[in-house]
Amino acid sequence: MKIEHFSMGPIAANCYVLLDEASGEAAVIDPGACEQPLIDYLHSGAVKKVRYILLTHGHYDHLMGVADVKAITGAPVYIHPGDAACLTDESESLADTHLPGQQNVVTPDGFLEEGMELPLGELTIRVLHTPGHSRGGVCFVVGDVIFSGDTLFRHTCGRTDLPGGDYATLMHSLERLTELSGDYQVYPGHNRATTLAHERTHNRYLRKKNLDQSLFDF
Ligand SMILES: [Zn+2]
Ligand SMILES: [Zn+2]
Repeated sequence: MKIEHFSMGPIAANCYVLLDEASGEAAVIDPGACEQPLIDYLHSGAVKKVRYILLTHGHYDHLMGVADVKAITGAPVYIHPGDAACLTDESESLADTHLPGQQNVVTPDGFLEEGMELPLGELTIRVLHTPGHSRGGVCFVVGDVIFSGDTLFRHTCGRTDLPGGDYATLMHSLERLTELSGDYQVYPGHNRATTLAHERTHNRYLRKKNLDQSLFDF
């Protein structure tokens, strides 16, 4: 498994290309733009076939490059039904307030659901529905890696004041991540990567549950 990172678009969202090196199959996660470094990598020869374009959620900063990446690669676009309207309606993706008139409409080719498993060469991408930042927010779990979108960031979590956001729902989603056993590399939708073990200790939105547990331990 190889992961390439591209920081792109108006507010520097993280796009990742997950590659199964054995087969050359790749998934492009959250193309918030389609800039030259990403195009160059997709044409570099390491990537034989882009099998999926996957969206952690439907906000404009994660999907403005979807139409172009789809045109270049022919790969199918997957999003959770809760955020699917974002692909066709710039008022849903919030592009209307930030980049009005610049979002190209894309029809989703498939829908992500809780527990779904997407094969990528020898890898398996497992879908966790983690709403709270948006209705259709998901995390992708592959081996010991989590692509956490805007659900979990290093030392913080996604905002819940946008349409479809809900604080209690996000806390429940974070609890599900905390409860995954073992450690994971976490690649979030913004800012730098982290680990789940680090966040369990240093992220106050995840630590709350640990504190509750330690009270019980006493
Ligand atoms: Zn977002
Ligand atoms: Zn974002």
